[in-house]
Amino acid sequence: MTIDAFERSLADRTRGLVIAPDHRQYDSARSLFNGMLDRRPRLIFRPADMDDLVSAVRWASESDLAIAVRGGGHSVAGHSMPDDGFVIDLSRWRSATVDPGRRIAEAEGGCLLMDLDAATAGYGLAAPSGTFIDTGVGGLTLGGGISHIIASEGFGCDALIGVELVTADGRVVEVDEEREPDLLWALRGGGGNFGVVTRFRYRLTPLERMYSGSLSYRGPAVGAVLARLFELDTSAPDELSTQAIVFWSDEDGGPIVRINVDWRGEPDDGDAAIRALLVDPVPFATTLQPMTWLQAQARFTPIPFGLRHYWKGHLVSQAPAGLADAIITAAEGSGDEGFILVELIHGAAHRIPDDSAAFGGRRAVANVTALSIWQDAGGDEAGIAWGRRAAGLFEPYSLSGGGYLNYPEVDQTAARVAAAFGPERFARLRTIKRTWDPDNRFRHNANILPA
Ligand SMILES: Cc1cc2nc3c(=O)[nH]c(=O)nc-3n(C[C@H](O)[C@H](O)[C@H](O)COP(=O)(O)OP(=O)(O)OC[C@H]3O[C@@H](n4cnc5c(N)ncnc54)[C@H](O)[C@@H]3O)c2cc1C
Repeated sequence: MTIDAFERSLADRTRGLVIAPDHRQYDSARSLFNGMLDRRPRLIFRPADMDDLVSAVRWASESDLAIAVRGGGHSVAGHSMPDDGFVIDLSRWRSATVDPGRRIAEAEGGCLLMDLDAATAGYGLAAPSGTFIDTGVGGLTLGGGISHIIASEGFGCDALIGVELVTADGRVVEVDEEREPDLLWALRGGGGNFGVVTRFRYRLTPLERMYSGSLSYRGPAVGAVLARLFELDTSAPDELSTQAIVFWSDEDGGPIVRINVDWRGEPDDGDAAIRALLVDPVPFATTLQPMTWLQAQARFTPIPFGLRHYWKGHLVSQAPAGLADAIITAAEGSGDEGFILVELIHGAAHRIPDDSAAFGGRRAVANVTALSIWQDAGGDEAGIAWGRRAAGLFEPYSLSGGGYLNYPEVDQTAARVAAAFGPERFARLRTIKRTWDPDNRFRHNANILPA
């Protein structure tokens, strides 16, 4: 079938916007966060409503086409925009509502974190999601979700209590603990493998005030501070969530670490909880201050689409002194915009039963990922090489040999995906995949082959 005839066959069955390569919106619609990926899908479809989306999924199934789903478009590996593929683009599905009495939020499948946060904050409530407000809730929740309140609430997927899902054969299924518990388990970390999520339902927590900001250290202090942060995290209260950003300063000829602190509570108690980080060495800069939940969520400036990215790392099972050394060694060569991101994991994230979600990294003590970021194609080789080299340095500490699936390298292998879940979870996921998507129609993701 020619593209025109193909496009017409979809347009005849639907009312939404069909964007083919000759459409004036094609280039903006196919743009991805990672500027290294110049993907040219066959058709992009923006459904007008639920019936329309169901028609498009049925059309794809009858045409034997794989379906990619675009939520917030932040997949660093470009999963949501495959070359020559069919994309269902939910970027206009951004409504979020809150039931304050039941402390539940519902977010449409294309919502960004800012849509969800803005809806919940008005009621003094919050969902554990992520740390950059322009990220899509879709990919983030389905792949795990590391947020400013991970220690008290667990991963983003732990707060997922239900979804409305359009399956590969075009059925609309309500998924929750009562109706489809296996599928809910799979959606908590198993990615976009099981259908198009049109509505996410989250359990919320009361939260208005945060004490948040960063502490920065440079030079020889960095190793000691990282070691202290790892030590602190082994006994930190649930109110404290932290992450470290380590990069190389050419000006200093040495590393700099910025520790992002989020304390859920009063400033004095927060200072007491992080006392070990405030003295000897003293940070050269601090920005900690009381703020609203929305201010805490919005404090990182969004990274613009179009920069070039190669992200690779490991969920680590332990954080000995050797890991701090590896991070500092890795930081050298990070370039102007790259850095090592260390997201500490403790508290509720560890206590929530491991069998409640498909997410495979619950026992990790941290996510340690090299975020290689640069501007021009000329930097591709060096940028990719640095990301790979850094991830190699973290590998000896890896929980399972897999990384955090929400930070996928563009050349992610099937072995790394399987390793991220471990053999038992992966086998169970493959069985569930066979039930709901036997033809692997949803394969543009961290793919789980049907058993
Ligand atoms: C700048 C930046 C900051 C980030 N910060 C964090 C963070 O703080 N914490 C964290 O945990 N992660 C973070 N991430 C990683 C983020 O979770 C992933 O990039 C995630 O895939 C983004 O989801 P998206 O919907 O924007 O992506 P998209 O590219 O739109 O989608 C990625 C994949 O998710 C699936 N998907 C998306 N929506 C749906 C849906 N409605 N139904 C079915 N499948 C769907 C599809 O398989 C799709 O291929 C960040 C990423 C970036 C680029």
